[in-house]
Amino acid sequence: MAVPAMLNKNNSAVKRIMQEARELANDPSTEYSAAPLEDDIFEWHCTLRGPSGTDFEGGLYHFRIRLPAEYPFRPPSIMLLTPNGRFELNTKICISFTNYHEELWQPAWGVRTAIIALQGFFPLKGQAAMGIGALEAPSSERRRLAALSKDWVCPRCNHSNLQSLPDPPPSNDSGSTLASASPPTTTTTEEKTSAEADASGVPTPAVDVTVTPVVRSPEADHPTPPGNANRITEAVANDGATTSSPPPPPGAAPRGGHQVGSSLYQQSRTHVSTVRPPMLLDTAIGVLLVLVFALLCRRVF
Ligand SMILES: [Zn+2]
Repeated sequence: MAVPAMLNKNNSAVKRIMQEARELANDPSTEYSAAPLEDDIFEWHCTLRGPSGTDFEGGLYHFRIRLPAEYPFRPPSIMLLTPNGRFELNTKICISFTNYHEELWQPAWGVRTAIIALQGFFPLKGQAAMGIGALEAPSSERRRLAALSKDWVCPRCNHSNLQSLPDPPPSNDSGSTLASASPPTTTTTEEKTSAEADASGVPTPAVDVTVTPVVRSPEADHPTPPGNANRITEAVANDGATTSSPPPPPGAAPRGGHQVGSSLYQQSRTHVSTVRPPMLLDTAIGVLLVLVFALLCRRVF
């Protein structure tokens, strides 16, 4: 993509954004598509597939990511554009990496990290799902909107979500590979359990829901005791809150940035050899962002 003439190509934000745009263009995903606008590289329009096994399965959701002039040292903001029943439209939504929680953002993260984390936020329930821009539409409404969302047309991009993110070609293992391997899908399995608990009037702590994939994915033979889950959560919280370790250089790839994510990836890799590693690690980072957010929301709200 050409840099618009009015932009200074030596500006660090511009260089970083162009680098991310190239990486996303060269390594496309069937789960999302994202690119900066032709006339404003600080504004990206993205289309995200609804997480499978949730009310949003089959849905395609268009949103804009606004990058600040200080990017990547200040976080992006995200606004949903497609009606979805989970997030308000045209409202900066409150998730840990957006400018509502600026202190949690790390320069090594990028647009791809933000998109994957957003996907992980879709199925959250209860306290973890709350925050600025959150909606609690009934399941039937979310499913109805998911069915309509493929034909939704972005007035700025002038094409539908299905055109932005076509359905992946059917194959024997596509979908099932993602469903069996990605932590967010594991989360949604647990969500059903928590939904049942909610229905019976027993509030389910958000942390239990979101921690599950971290506990479960590494070693099925050695189930981790519940106390260990809390330690993991605390470690993640500390990691996100203090940011005492020096951040990686701005040019570093976002996917290498997180210690916990890396170890999760290494442990998981031995069990799931069919998954592309970058996708799994990205997903792991997304889940960790969700964990940090869940803890933050418990403190703030
Ligand atoms: Zn658009």
